[in-house]
Amino acid sequence: MTKVEETPVCPVGESSCEWLDEVGELRRQIDELAELVSTDALTGLFNFRHFRTVLQAEMDRSKRSGIPTSLVLLDIDHFKAVNDTHGHEVGNLALQHLANILTGEVRTTDIVCRYGGEEFAMIFPETHLNLAVKVAERIRLEIQNNPMVQDDGEIRLTASMGASVYMKTSVLELDEFVDSVDKYLYEAKQSGRNCICHIDYSDLRAVTEVGVDERALLLQGD
Ligand code: GH3
Ligand code: MG
Ligand code: MG
Repeated sequence: MTKVEETPVCPVGESSCEWLDEVGELRRQIDELAELVSTDALTGLFNFRHFRTVLQAEMDRSKRSGIPTSLVLLDIDHFKAVNDTHGHEVGNLALQHLANILTGEVRTTDIVCRYGGEEFAMIFPETHLNLAVKVAERIRLEIQNNPMVQDDGEIRLTASMGASVYMKTSVLELDEFVDSVDKYLYEAKQSGRNCICHIDYSDLRAVTEVGVDERALLLQGD
C-alpha cells in the first residue's frame, strides 16, 4: 500500500482542528494495518501472504526483463526436539534468533519471509542461482556456528535448504515453482540435513530450455 505523504490542511484555516487530528490518526492506523497484513507477528519477517505477492511480481519481472529470480526455502532441522526439550517459548525465541540471522545475511532488496511454522523463504530478485546458493551457504554456516545463548546453556541449530531459479523461459506457475524448490529442500533433509540442495546447473538448460547464452548469464554472479 502506498503511504499518503501530504499533510492535510484545515479547509477553514483553523490551526487546531479535531477533524484533521482524526484524519491523521486514521492514516496512522491504516499504515499500521498495512504493515500487519504483510508481517509475521513473532519474527517481524514478511508473512506467507506477502511472500506470494512478491514472488509472483518477481516472476513476472523475470519474464519481462530476462533477469532471473532465485528462491531459497529453509527448514530448521529437528526443531520439534527444541520444543520438546526446552519448551514452546524457547522454541519461539529460536525462531526469532534464526530470523535475525537471515535478515543479517541478505541484501536489503532480498525478501525474507516466514513461510510456515519453522520454515522460511528467501526471494532474491535479479539474482543468479549460484549467487543465491552462495548466500544460502553463508547462512547455513552462520546458523550452525551461532548457537542460541540461554541462561542454562546454548542451543545449537542447523537448517536444511532447497534452492532454484526462475527465468524468462520458465513455464512454471507460482505454486509449481515453489513445489520444485520444496523438492530440493526435501532432498536436503534426505541427504542428512544441514545442507543445501538445488537444481543442477547442468540441468538448467533441460528444465527451462534456456539457450547457451542465457545459461552462461545464469551462471554469472560471483
Ligand atoms: P525436520 O528436521 O525433519 O524438519 O524435523 P522437525 O522436528 O524440524 O520437523 P517437524 O515437522 O517434525 O516439527 C516441526 C516443529 O516445529 C513442530 C512444531 O511444534 C514446531 N513449530 C511450528 N511452529 C512453531 C512456532 O510458532 N513456535 C514454536 N515454538 N514451535 C513451532
Ligand atoms: Mg517443517
Ligand atoms: Mg524442521
